[in-house]
Amino acid sequence: MGPRRLGALALALAAGTIVPACGREAPPPREFDGTTALRYIERQVGFGPRVPGTEAHQRMAAWLDSLLRTRADTVVLQQWIHVTARRDSLQLTNLLARFNPGGEKRILFLAHWDSRPRADGPASTDSTVPVPGANDGGSGVAVLLGVADVLHRAAPAIGVDLLFVDGEDYGDFTNTPDDVLIGSRYYAAHQPPGPQSLYAVLFDLVADKDLQIYQEGNSLIGAPEVVNLVWDTAKLLGYRSVFIDTPKHTLIDDHLELQKAGIRAIDVVDFDYPAWHTPDDKLDQVSAQSLQIVGDVAVALVRREGK
Ligand SMILES: [Zn+2]
Repeated sequence: MGPRRLGALALALAAGTIVPACGREAPPPREFDGTTALRYIERQVGFGPRVPGTEAHQRMAAWLDSLLRTRADTVVLQQWIHVTARRDSLQLTNLLARFNPGGEKRILFLAHWDSRPRADGPASTDSTVPVPGANDGGSGVAVLLGVADVLHRAAPAIGVDLLFVDGEDYGDFTNTPDDVLIGSRYYAAHQPPGPQSLYAVLFDLVADKDLQIYQEGNSLIGAPEVVNLVWDTAKLLGYRSVFIDTPKHTLIDDHLELQKAGIRAIDVVDFDYPAWHTPDDKLDQVSAQSLQIVGDVAVALVRREGK
């Protein structure tokens, strides 16, 4: 993710006849699989850093494309050349996996799939190497792929779009702002025709084994009702200790480019991540349990809109 920190903003009844005496419904069956989602992170890290212009980046795009084509109703590819402030030409790709593409009522989930070329975070021990991106890049993609698995097994009643954006983390958020958030900016300017999403949720840095997701400042400014919806959904699932309904960080991230285009977009992000933009953003920092929690919330958002 991309952060310049702007400072602190400060279910189905039990089968058959056995109904609990209190009359409460049993929780719904779990659809999202955190263990599989963790394997999706392992696969991504196995490619190496997915930095635009590298072979790992190309192989990752091909893997995502093949995986999404076996799960979604349609896959839209957006491919273009981005020329950076340093006059490098980058071949970039957004992938949009669409479920129920004709659905009037629809929601959008997004994540960036590229990883950062320089580990230049404040806690980094070596700013010359790329970020492995287990959490930063890897986690959001893993959640979206896990949702794709769920929707492939049981189609959504509403339309769902899963957007994988490229070039989020390439440049410097302060000095070369055109070289970050590139894919989300491109998507905002080249949206597919048809009904717009009710809202959009960006997932970034969501697999930290020590997961705490505070409400993000620009989300609260731009789409407070979506923040409430997501945190209420998490609470209903029993995740209020992870989805903490207090604002903390305010971040520049892909959701802002969508907000500028009129989409009610928020960022679900755990920015209290010591390995952020360091060479330590590796598999030992992430957990299947954290992915399970975030994935459960994402699936619940889809299912509640279908009721
Ligand atoms: Zn990042």
